[in-house]
Amino acid sequence: MNTQFFAAWIEEIAAAVRAQRDHLTQLDAAIGDADHGANLDRGFAAAQEALAGASPQTPGALLVLVGTTLIRKVGGASGPLYGTAFREMGKAFGDAAEVSPAELSAGLNAALSGVQRLGAAAEGDKTMVDALAPAVKALDQAVRDGRKPEEALEAAAAAAEEGAKATVPLQARKGRASYLGPRSVGHEDPGAASTALLFRALKAAAAR
Ligand code: ADP
Ligand code: MG
Repeated sequence: MNTQFFAAWIEEIAAAVRAQRDHLTQLDAAIGDADHGANLDRGFAAAQEALAGASPQTPGALLVLVGTTLIRKVGGASGPLYGTAFREMGKAFGDAAEVSPAELSAGLNAALSGVQRLGAAAEGDKTMVDALAPAVKALDQAVRDGRKPEEALEAAAAAAEEGAKATVPLQARKGRASYLGPRSVGHEDPGAASTALLFRALKAAAAR
């Protein structure tokens, strides 16, 4: 996977977030402050502009720029968390021109670690970690099993989607939704839903 692949990923994310903007905002209206769709739409549109302006030459530089832009442009909890995720992935790739499936897996593990270091959420706390952690695990396993990249990314996307759906019955223990206590039960976590979009977009980029 080269720089062009990761640029395609960001394009796919921006399009998916634009299409799902109102849905994400509705999820956040139920257990938050109704800004998640708008936050991410603004952030990924800005990331695409930044990429068009700077034309980064490696996957690592591209992802660090995306992360920095998200931190700068997206307010709330999710901006710094997603920003850190992309920055950590980019840093893990160093200045390599190509990233192997195993390296992608390592980069996504670094992203997960960054999110957990910053947000201190564990699996089951009803956050983006509930989609991110199973997706990373599924990708690791698929790569270890020697599956084709597209199959490995399908497994990761499916695990993220399952993880997001599984947040519905949980009570939030982190972030704004945790202020609701038991009233957060019965709703899908918006950040977990957007993380599932990110992994579905990764699969779509690979299928291009
Ligand atoms: P805000 O909550 O500040 O309005 P957003 O609405 O953009 O920010 O994002 C909310 C999402 O951020 C939540 O649905 C959750 O997935 C994620 N989130 C919040 N706090 C944390 C945390 N400490 N660790 C991981 N994810 C978190
Ligand atoms: Mg919000």
